[in-house]
Amino acid sequence: MKTVIGPTQRQFLADLRSYLDGLDPELVAATRAENIEDPMQPRENGRRFLRRLAADGWLGVSWPTEYGGQGRTEIEHWLFAEELYSRRLPNGLLTLNVIGPTLMLMGSEAQKADYLPRIINGDQVFAIGYSEPDAGSDLASLRTRAVRDGDEYVVNGQKIWTTGGDVATHYWLAARTGRPEDKHRGVSLFIVPMDAPGISITPIITQGGERTTSVFLDDVRIPASQRIGEENEGWAAIVCALNFERMFFHNEPRWELEQLAGWADAQGLLEGETPQAYALQERMGEHAVDVEICRLFALRGAGMLAAGQVPRAEASANKIWWGELRQRICNTGLDLVGEDGTIATGSPYAPAGGHLEHGLQSSPVWRFGGGTNEIQLDIIANHGLGMPR
Ligand SMILES: Cc1cc2nc3c(=O)[nH]c(=O)nc-3n(C[C@H](O)[C@H](O)[C@H](O)COP(=O)(O)OP(=O)(O)OC[C@H]3O[C@@H](n4cnc5c(N)ncnc54)[C@H](O)[C@@H]3O)c2cc1C
Repeated sequence: MKTVIGPTQRQFLADLRSYLDGLDPELVAATRAENIEDPMQPRENGRRFLRRLAADGWLGVSWPTEYGGQGRTEIEHWLFAEELYSRRLPNGLLTLNVIGPTLMLMGSEAQKADYLPRIINGDQVFAIGYSEPDAGSDLASLRTRAVRDGDEYVVNGQKIWTTGGDVATHYWLAARTGRPEDKHRGVSLFIVPMDAPGISITPIITQGGERTTSVFLDDVRIPASQRIGEENEGWAAIVCALNFERMFFHNEPRWELEQLAGWADAQGLLEGETPQAYALQERMGEHAVDVEICRLFALRGAGMLAAGQVPRAEASANKIWWGELRQRICNTGLDLVGEDGTIATGSPYAPAGGHLEHGLQSSPVWRFGGGTNEIQLDIIANHGLGMPR
């Protein structure tokens, strides 16, 4: 079988592991605790951690050296993200993995010079503002309006599900600049500081504990220089960023399986010559294979990125597989745990540290987050398999 992980990549991983092992244990422990609680938004310790990595030259593994990166391929970038994820530490998330690469492809020279150095230093954190109360899957019907006024736009509207809105420094904002009937052809994309006058933010807490926000925009003024691409042509940047976003979901099922295996092992459930032990071994083996398939999906996407392509249907397949597998693994776990599965995460009495209970509550939320799985199936059918709409 052809493999894209060769001696260079293995050496990279060894160097990375030795660097991470040598980091300040207090910083790592504080970051990990914060990240397990809420992996979508690096807060105080997560930001400290990312700045440390940046100062040591470990952020932007696949970013070109001209933008301060290591200039390696997306394969190393993927290995980096996976290693950080396995240690339950942040890897730069949307800002480094989605906004940075999209800006490199779609931003003006001035925008690249302004934002990329601050992103790779760990100074800027972006939140993404696409969804609205009546525009989720049907994003092209968004109504937040940006009206040109001299060298500025004046923006009014409401966004929903802006994850990290309360911790981000900047907003990657989609707004309507054309006519509503023009749908996706009348949308522009802007960068705006999160603390700009006229922005107010309210929290939303999901059943899985993920924190996200609603954002209200009231006469927010954005300089025209902060528009990405031409007026009414923001859709291409949105699609590009969404494909990057779906690509780097890959390792949660592996983490859940480790929790399940550790717990089942400690209970002695995997041993003995009983039908139950054999049945469980078989199920765990299936999950382990599925976790490896998850890695292969991610690796295929990384390989395409390394070849200068942006995965589309492949990114959708990755996202669906990841989300559904996580749910299956947590289901297996809670079937075994039984009634004690109702003991919530955070309690010292919760089996497997409560991670299976948390995973089961959180996984249905990720049927929606990042675009619903039904819409991903459409993308696979249309763009991957060439089926008619
Ligand atoms: C935890 C979380 C974090 C998120 N973070 C962000 C963020 O940071 N920024 C952001 O902009 N958005 C974010 N989102 C929003 C997310 O992208 C949307 O929830 C998603 O696009 C679905 O939109 P909706 O919620 O309006 O559901 P709807 O579009 O109303 O869908 C409801 C149901 O109808 C189905 N459906 C709709 N249209 C079709 C169709 N054509 N064919 C088949 N089935 C269909 C859907 O699959 C779904 O099951 C987040 C969501 C969650 C849950």
